[in-house]
Amino acid sequence: MRNWAVTLILSLIVTFALWQNPPKRAVLSESVEATPMASAAPSAYPSPSPTATPRALVGYCLNVPILLYHHVQPQDQAQAKGQKNISVDTNVFEGQMAYLKSSGYTTLTGDQLAHALADKQELPKKSIVLTFDDGYDDFYTNVYPVIQKYGLVANLMVSTGLVNNAQYLSWGQIREMVSGGLVHAYNHTWSHANLTGKPLEKIRFEIMTANQQLKDNLGKDNAIFTYPYGSSSQAIIDFLKKNGFTAAFSTLPGNVQCDSFIMTLHRNRVGNSPLSSYGL
Ligand SMILES: [Zn+2]
Repeated sequence: MRNWAVTLILSLIVTFALWQNPPKRAVLSESVEATPMASAAPSAYPSPSPTATPRALVGYCLNVPILLYHHVQPQDQAQAKGQKNISVDTNVFEGQMAYLKSSGYTTLTGDQLAHALADKQELPKKSIVLTFDDGYDDFYTNVYPVIQKYGLVANLMVSTGLVNNAQYLSWGQIREMVSGGLVHAYNHTWSHANLTGKPLEKIRFEIMTANQQLKDNLGKDNAIFTYPYGSSSQAIIDFLKKNGFTAAFSTLPGNVQCDSFIMTLHRNRVGNSPLSSYGL
Protein backbone atom coordinates (compact mmCIF):
# COMPACT_ATOMS: atom_id res chain seq x y z
CA MET A 1 0.00 0.00 0.00
CA ARG A 2 1.19 3.50 -0.69
CA ASN A 3 2.49 5.55 2.23
CA TRP A 4 -0.24 8.19 1.96
CA ALA A 5 -2.94 5.53 2.20
CA VAL A 6 -1.34 3.99 5.30
CA THR A 7 -1.16 7.42 6.92
CA LEU A 8 -4.78 8.12 6.09
CA ILE A 9 -5.99 4.83 7.51
CA LEU A 10 -3.90 5.25 10.67
CA SER A 11 -5.23 8.75 11.30
CA LEU A 12 -8.79 7.51 10.77
CA ILE A 13 -8.21 4.78 13.35
CA VAL A 14 -6.75 7.27 15.86
CA THR A 15 -9.57 9.75 15.26
CA PHE A 16 -12.15 7.02 15.76
CA ALA A 17 -10.45 5.82 18.95
CA LEU A 18 -10.35 9.36 20.38
CA TRP A 19 -13.95 9.93 19.40
CA GLN A 20 -14.94 6.69 21.15
CA ASN A 21 -12.98 7.45 24.29
CA PRO A 22 -11.87 11.09 24.58
CA PRO A 23 -9.12 11.77 27.13
CA LYS A 24 -10.68 13.44 30.14
CA ARG A 25 -8.98 16.55 31.36
CA ALA A 26 -11.38 17.60 34.09
CA VAL A 27 -9.45 19.25 36.91
CA LEU A 28 -10.89 18.48 40.28
CA SER A 29 -10.04 21.35 42.55
CA GLU A 30 -11.62 20.04 45.72
CA SER A 31 -9.38 19.99 48.74
CA VAL A 32 -10.17 18.20 51.94
CA GLU A 33 -9.28 19.83 55.22
CA ALA A 34 -9.82 16.96 57.60
CA THR A 35 -6.71 15.08 58.62
CA PRO A 36 -6.36 11.60 60.01
CA MET A 37 -4.43 11.02 63.18
CA ALA A 38 -1.33 11.87 61.15
CA SER A 39 -0.66 14.74 58.79
CA ALA A 40 -1.49 13.30 55.37
CA ALA A 41 -4.89 14.06 53.88
CA PRO A 42 -6.37 14.23 50.42
CA SER A 43 -5.24 17.42 48.78
CA ALA A 44 -6.37 17.96 45.22
CA TYR A 45 -7.75 15.34 42.88
CA PRO A 46 -5.55 15.29 39.81
CA SER A 47 -7.23 14.48 36.57
CA PRO A 48 -7.35 10.80 35.80
CA SER A 49 -4.96 9.79 33.07
CA PRO A 50 -6.86 7.35 30.90
CA THR A 51 -5.13 5.94 27.91
CA ALA A 52 -6.15 7.70 24.70
CA THR A 53 -7.14 4.43 23.12
CA PRO A 54 -9.20 1.76 24.88
CA ARG A 55 -7.21 -1.05 26.43
CA ALA A 56 -7.22 -4.44 24.75
CA LEU A 57 -10.06 -6.51 26.17
CA VAL A 58 -8.02 -9.66 26.62
CA GLY A 59 -8.90 -12.74 28.66
CA TYR A 60 -12.20 -13.42 30.41
CA CYS A 61 -14.28 -10.24 30.20
CA LEU A 62 -17.64 -9.15 31.56
CA ASN A 63 -19.71 -6.13 30.62
CA VAL A 64 -20.08 -4.67 34.10
CA PRO A 65 -19.92 -0.87 34.39
CA ILE A 66 -18.50 0.41 37.66
CA LEU A 67 -19.79 3.86 38.59
CA LEU A 68 -17.61 6.24 40.59
CA TYR A 69 -19.13 8.76 43.00
CA HIS A 70 -17.57 11.01 45.63
CA HIS A 71 -19.99 13.47 47.27
CA VAL A 72 -23.77 13.33 46.90
CA GLN A 73 -25.23 16.62 48.11
CA PRO A 74 -27.50 19.44 46.95
CA GLN A 75 -25.96 21.36 44.06
CA ASP A 76 -25.89 24.72 45.91
CA GLN A 77 -24.08 23.11 48.82
CA ALA A 78 -21.54 21.53 46.47
CA GLN A 79 -21.01 24.94 44.87
CA ALA A 80 -20.56 26.69 48.22
CA LYS A 81 -17.99 24.10 49.34
CA GLY A 82 -16.09 24.13 46.03
CA GLN A 83 -16.96 20.46 45.52
CA LYS A 84 -19.02 20.77 42.36
CA ASN A 85 -16.66 18.68 40.28
CA ILE A 86 -16.84 15.69 42.61
CA SER A 87 -20.49 15.98 43.60
CA VAL A 88 -23.75 14.64 42.26
CA ASP A 89 -26.89 16.51 43.25
CA THR A 90 -29.10 14.67 45.74
CA ASN A 91 -32.20 14.70 43.51
CA VAL A 92 -30.25 13.69 40.42
CA PHE A 93 -28.73 10.83 42.40
CA GLU A 94 -32.12 9.58 43.49
CA GLY A 95 -33.24 9.68 39.85
CA GLN A 96 -30.17 7.69 38.83
CA MET A 97 -30.83 5.00 41.44
CA ALA A 98 -34.53 4.85 40.52
CA TYR A 99 -33.45 4.35 36.90
CA LEU A 100 -31.15 1.44 37.80
CA LYS A 101 -33.98 -0.17 39.75
CA SER A 102 -36.64 0.28 37.08
CA SER A 103 -34.25 -0.84 34.31
CA GLY A 104 -33.62 -4.13 36.07
CA TYR A 105 -29.96 -3.69 37.03
CA THR A 106 -28.35 -5.96 39.58
CA THR A 107 -25.95 -4.09 41.87
CA LEU A 108 -22.90 -6.10 42.91
CA THR A 109 -20.27 -5.96 45.61
CA GLY A 110 -16.64 -5.56 44.65
CA ASP A 111 -16.06 -9.11 45.88
CA GLN A 112 -18.79 -10.56 43.65
CA LEU A 113 -17.25 -8.96 40.57
CA ALA A 114 -13.73 -10.06 41.59
CA HIS A 115 -14.88 -13.67 42.09
CA ALA A 116 -16.83 -13.75 38.83
CA LEU A 117 -13.75 -12.58 36.89
CA ALA A 118 -11.33 -14.85 38.72
CA ASP A 119 -13.56 -17.94 38.46
CA LYS A 120 -14.86 -17.09 34.97
CA GLN A 121 -18.46 -17.09 36.13
CA GLU A 122 -21.36 -15.44 34.40
CA LEU A 123 -23.25 -12.59 36.05
CA PRO A 124 -26.80 -11.31 35.57
CA LYS A 125 -27.01 -9.60 32.17
CA LYS A 126 -27.45 -6.08 33.54
CA SER A 127 -24.91 -6.06 36.35
CA ILE A 128 -23.34 -2.91 37.73
CA VAL A 129 -21.09 -1.90 40.62
CA LEU A 130 -21.68 1.35 42.54
CA THR A 131 -18.59 2.79 44.25
CA PHE A 132 -18.38 5.78 46.58
CA ASP A 133 -14.86 7.00 47.33
CA ASP A 134 -13.24 8.42 50.44
CA GLY A 135 -15.98 7.96 53.08
CA TYR A 136 -17.62 11.41 53.21
CA ASP A 137 -20.40 11.89 55.74
CA ASP A 138 -22.94 12.79 53.04
CA PHE A 139 -22.90 9.09 52.15
CA TYR A 140 -24.76 8.41 55.38
CA THR A 141 -27.27 11.25 54.99
CA ASN A 142 -27.78 11.37 51.20
CA VAL A 143 -26.80 8.00 49.74
CA TYR A 144 -27.69 5.37 52.32
CA PRO A 145 -31.42 6.23 52.55
CA VAL A 146 -31.71 6.02 48.74
CA ILE A 147 -29.80 2.72 48.63
CA GLN A 148 -32.20 1.33 51.23
CA LYS A 149 -35.26 2.70 49.44
CA TYR A 150 -34.39 0.88 46.20
CA GLY A 151 -32.65 -2.11 47.78
CA LEU A 152 -29.36 -1.47 45.98
CA VAL A 153 -25.85 -2.52 46.97
CA ALA A 154 -23.18 0.16 47.45
CA ASN A 155 -19.41 -0.14 47.82
CA LEU A 156 -17.75 2.37 50.12
CA MET A 157 -14.05 2.96 49.49
CA VAL A 158 -12.76 4.12 52.85
CA SER A 159 -9.55 5.98 53.70
CA THR A 160 -9.56 4.62 57.23
CA GLY A 161 -7.39 7.33 58.80
CA LEU A 162 -9.95 9.95 57.76
CA VAL A 163 -12.86 8.21 59.48
CA ASN A 164 -14.25 10.12 62.46
CA ASN A 165 -12.90 13.44 61.13
CA ALA A 166 -15.12 16.42 60.31
CA GLN A 167 -17.03 15.84 57.03
CA TYR A 168 -16.22 12.12 57.09
CA LEU A 169 -18.21 9.13 58.26
CA SER A 170 -17.72 7.75 61.75
CA TRP A 171 -16.92 4.10 62.41
CA GLY A 172 -20.30 3.86 64.12
CA GLN A 173 -22.08 4.96 60.93
CA ILE A 174 -20.02 2.63 58.74
CA ARG A 175 -20.65 -0.28 61.12
CA GLU A 176 -24.39 0.42 61.11
CA MET A 177 -24.55 0.51 57.29
CA VAL A 178 -22.31 -2.53 56.77
CA SER A 179 -24.31 -4.58 59.26
CA GLY A 180 -27.44 -3.66 57.28
CA GLY A 181 -26.03 -5.75 54.42
CA LEU A 182 -26.37 -3.22 51.57
CA VAL A 183 -23.09 -1.36 52.11
CA HIS A 184 -19.68 -3.00 51.71
CA ALA A 185 -16.58 -1.19 52.94
CA TYR A 186 -13.25 -1.58 51.17
CA ASN A 187 -9.66 -0.36 51.39
CA HIS A 188 -8.81 3.10 49.97
CA THR A 189 -5.54 3.40 51.99
CA TRP A 190 -5.09 4.90 55.44
CA SER A 191 -4.45 8.58 54.59
CA HIS A 192 -5.59 8.75 50.93
CA ALA A 193 -1.96 8.96 49.87
CA ASN A 194 -0.93 8.76 46.25
CA LEU A 195 1.25 5.63 46.39
CA THR A 196 2.75 5.75 42.91
CA GLY A 197 6.54 6.00 43.13
CA LYS A 198 6.52 5.64 46.92
CA PRO A 199 8.86 3.29 48.82
CA LEU A 200 7.55 -0.19 49.55
CA GLU A 201 7.36 0.60 53.28
CA LYS A 202 4.98 3.50 52.62
CA ILE A 203 2.86 1.29 50.34
CA ARG A 204 2.78 -1.41 52.99
CA PHE A 205 1.92 1.01 55.81
CA GLU A 206 -0.93 2.72 53.94
CA ILE A 207 -2.56 -0.47 52.67
CA MET A 208 -2.05 -2.76 55.64
CA THR A 209 -2.99 -0.14 58.25
CA ALA A 210 -6.25 0.39 56.41
CA ASN A 211 -6.90 -3.35 56.28
CA GLN A 212 -6.18 -3.67 60.00
CA GLN A 213 -8.55 -0.80 60.84
CA LEU A 214 -11.29 -2.26 58.62
CA LYS A 215 -10.84 -5.58 60.40
CA ASP A 216 -10.74 -4.01 63.88
CA ASN A 217 -13.84 -1.90 63.30
CA LEU A 218 -15.96 -4.11 61.04
CA GLY A 219 -14.70 -7.58 61.90
CA LYS A 220 -14.10 -8.47 58.26
CA ASP A 221 -11.11 -9.22 56.10
CA ASN A 222 -10.81 -7.11 52.97
CA ALA A 223 -9.44 -8.10 49.57
CA ILE A 224 -10.47 -5.16 47.36
CA PHE A 225 -8.39 -2.01 46.86
CA THR A 226 -9.10 1.37 45.27
CA TYR A 227 -6.15 3.56 44.20
CA PRO A 228 -6.28 7.11 45.60
CA TYR A 229 -6.39 9.51 42.64
CA GLY A 230 -6.69 6.45 40.43
CA SER A 231 -2.92 6.30 40.58
CA SER A 232 -1.60 2.77 40.16
CA SER A 233 1.83 1.26 39.49
CA GLN A 234 3.32 -2.19 39.04
CA ALA A 235 4.92 -1.98 42.50
CA ILE A 236 1.51 -1.39 44.12
CA ILE A 237 -0.10 -4.13 42.03
CA ASP A 238 2.66 -6.59 43.01
CA PHE A 239 2.20 -5.69 46.68
CA LEU A 240 -1.57 -6.13 46.49
CA LYS A 241 -1.28 -9.54 44.81
CA LYS A 242 1.29 -10.75 47.35
CA ASN A 243 -0.98 -9.72 50.18
CA GLY A 244 -4.14 -11.49 49.12
CA PHE A 245 -6.00 -8.74 47.27
CA THR A 246 -8.22 -10.12 44.52
CA ALA A 247 -9.12 -6.94 42.60
CA ALA A 248 -8.46 -3.21 42.48
CA PHE A 249 -10.35 -0.24 41.04
CA SER A 250 -8.73 2.43 38.87
CA THR A 251 -10.24 5.54 37.30
CA LEU A 252 -9.59 4.42 33.73
CA PRO A 253 -12.97 4.67 32.01
CA GLY A 254 -14.76 1.77 30.37
CA ASN A 255 -17.73 -0.55 30.80
CA VAL A 256 -15.97 -3.87 30.25
CA GLN A 257 -13.89 -5.61 32.91
CA CYS A 258 -11.38 -8.38 32.14
CA ASP A 259 -9.38 -10.76 34.30
CA SER A 260 -6.27 -9.53 32.43
CA PHE A 261 -6.56 -6.19 34.24
CA ILE A 262 -8.28 -7.29 37.42
CA MET A 263 -5.91 -5.07 39.46
CA THR A 264 -6.85 -1.93 37.48
CA LEU A 265 -10.55 -2.33 36.74
CA HIS A 266 -12.32 0.40 34.79
CA ARG A 267 -14.58 2.94 36.50
CA ASN A 268 -16.72 5.71 35.07
CA ARG A 269 -17.09 9.01 36.91
CA VAL A 270 -20.72 10.03 37.21
CA GLY A 271 -21.94 13.62 37.13
CA ASN A 272 -25.32 15.34 37.10
CA SER A 273 -26.68 13.63 34.00
CA PRO A 274 -29.17 10.80 33.67
CA LEU A 275 -27.49 7.40 33.64
CA SER A 276 -28.92 6.76 30.18
CA SER A 277 -26.41 9.31 28.93
CA TYR A 278 -23.63 7.03 30.18
CA GLY A 279 -24.83 4.23 27.95
CA LEU A 280 -26.81 2.50 30.70
ZN1 LIG B 1 -10.33 8.90 46.84
